[in-house]
Amino acid sequence: MHKSVIAEEGVSGVSLTKEELQRYSRHLIMPEVTAEGQKRLKAASVLCIGAGGLGSPAALYLAAAGVGRLGIVDFDKVDLTNLQRQILHGTKDVGRSKLESARDRLRDINPEIELKLHECRFSSDNAEQIVADYDVIVDGSDNFATRYLSNDVCVFARKPNVYGSVFRFEGQTTVFATHLGGPCYRCLFPEPPPPESVPNCAQAGVLGVLPGIIGMLQAIETIKLILGIGDPLIGRLLHFDALKVHFRELKLRHDSQCPVCGENPTIFAPIDYDQFCGVATEVPAVSVSELKRKLEAREPVQLVDVREPFEHELASIESAKLIPLGELADRLAELDREQLTIVHCHSGQRSAQAVQLLRDAGFANVFNLEGGIARWSDEIDSDVPQY
Ligand SMILES: [Zn+2]
Repeated sequence: MHKSVIAEEGVSGVSLTKEELQRYSRHLIMPEVTAEGQKRLKAASVLCIGAGGLGSPAALYLAAAGVGRLGIVDFDKVDLTNLQRQILHGTKDVGRSKLESARDRLRDINPEIELKLHECRFSSDNAEQIVADYDVIVDGSDNFATRYLSNDVCVFARKPNVYGSVFRFEGQTTVFATHLGGPCYRCLFPEPPPPESVPNCAQAGVLGVLPGIIGMLQAIETIKLILGIGDPLIGRLLHFDALKVHFRELKLRHDSQCPVCGENPTIFAPIDYDQFCGVATEVPAVSVSELKRKLEAREPVQLVDVREPFEHELASIESAKLIPLGELADRLAELDREQLTIVHCHSGQRSAQAVQLLRDAGFANVFNLEGGIARWSDEIDSDVPQY
């Protein structure tokens, strides 16, 4: 049995009301929990990074379990494409802020707990300050920049970081806690993968139930850390394959050369994670309304779609020429170097890389379409399907 991550002095003043004794009775009758454990849960605070696919089940169960203070950080609005997996939100919430939607649902599940909403992007500027207020961090983010950021600030603050990720039919989870003897995310992945090699959920898809499984495992690990029971997933990574219904466990090793938790660390404060992860943010861009104006005015524009052919079939902007990003370098001859060129993809990330590639190849007059075809559909032409 391991030790609870909640300090004794934090639990001593906590008591349970009559309603709470009733609400949590199925916990209290277990000798591994009892009223003492339930008080520990009430004394605990947990931060969910993201109210999306992983954050939804994690937050729902942590709230139901009686975690005393639950924080959520997110800046997004609920979109119809979220509802296939982000079960915190309902159809009536489309267009609302995710945090408001989450608050209503969580309050209904358990009005006894305190909710703290951080309506912002979790960033190098605010991450340390936000994390300082919590005992356990649940990383439900969907991008590498945020994963490295939450890893680093949890190492600095000596807080457990309950990790989860999903991709198509597979997911994985572990607990990073260097102060409890485990490795950190950077020990496993010292360098982020090149951005073009990793499609996100919006590009590759995900089975809607999958983040449910992984997010619930994150909630279980969080509760175990708080109660101090069982064997936490520290130093072990659990991989789940939904198609084979196969759980596999991998042993994780601490890297003595790790720049944040190794013997001679070189990183002591949050860095620029967008730059570290190669997220291209600095390419020249045009807005969807500017593109619309140019097309309507019949200005000569070479519009290039760098998505995959199946995406082009799902939704496309008239007059766009399809050249998937992976083929672009070999098909430059098909483009006119002199003409104004606007590149788009689904949401603007792949096209930003394409703009960089074209500029490096000598195209001077080339721009990224901000927000991609998703924003075009949102703001200009609702006949173009969202996917
Ligand atoms: Zn490390």
